[in-house]
Amino acid sequence: MRFPPSTVEPITLRGRTIHVKRDDLIDPRYSGNKFRKLHALFDIPADAYRRLISWGGNQSNAMLSIAALCAEQGWRFEYTTKRMPERLHAKPAGNLAAALDFGMVLNEVAAGDYEDAVAGLRSNSDSDTLVLAQGGADALARIGIERLAGEIRDWREAAGIERLHVVTPAGTGTTAAYLALSLPECRVITTPAVADTDDLKRQIERLMQLPANLQILRSARRFRFATPDAELLSIHRELCAAGIEFDLIYGALMWHALLAELDCIEGEILYVHSGGLAGNATMLDRYRHQGLF
Ligand SMILES: *Cc1c(COP(=O)(O)O)cnc(C)c1O
Repeated sequence: MRFPPSTVEPITLRGRTIHVKRDDLIDPRYSGNKFRKLHALFDIPADAYRRLISWGGNQSNAMLSIAALCAEQGWRFEYTTKRMPERLHAKPAGNLAAALDFGMVLNEVAAGDYEDAVAGLRSNSDSDTLVLAQGGADALARIGIERLAGEIRDWREAAGIERLHVVTPAGTGTTAAYLALSLPECRVITTPAVADTDDLKRQIERLMQLPANLQILRSARRFRFATPDAELLSIHRELCAAGIEFDLIYGALMWHALLAELDCIEGEILYVHSGGLAGNATMLDRYRHQGLF
């Protein structure tokens, strides 16, 4: 699939100008880094598979992007998740509703059976079935991330930047780690949104040796994954006021960690926008529900 390089725009925060690679603008159906991670799958002939199976959370950005991909390729998409709350059944919202509209077939299992179910999915070897690990944490993500790295390299050379730090948040760490691998001349900075630092390292080591130029920042505070938090909301608003919207789960957390370190980072910073804006509406509903907004 051909598409032009995503654009780079400046954002000024607390007196510092940071470049933002607008991967969130590539395609409204494919949230930011999911487009990059799934890129290789767009070029597979549609008749190579009949179905794709994956698993994860019921509002996952990856789930939505995979659902859009399968709709385009004509593949059946079966997605396994833990049993959902009744209200979500009655009225699917956000990414879940959008993915169901794309034809996703949902398979719910009791929380206690989830790990076994996932193990079963992982070991599926049907020749007509593509197994994609949660969040697209797969070696085939490398192809799309290398393409992203190439765009960054071209931009850096054109801008004549000596020292560049590339920043992007981590869920599975697939994006940040392949980016570090493909850009040995830069430092790649990330922060774990889901796991702690050791878990993130272990997850990356399933795919590759931990790249030496990957720096994992830890926020001074602990945040629970995808949980409303007044401090994250305040950063989200600061970013919106500065001109670019980021997602409330990964983006707000990455900026939280980055802003705390800003004075220690010499050289230019390129923040790779990882998308996820489709999930902001349901997150803001939860903020409202908790009286934080
Ligand atoms: C999925 C996602 C991430 C995490 O990407 P990984 O490659 O799994 O680390 C970061 N930001 C957003 C907005 C995402 O949707």
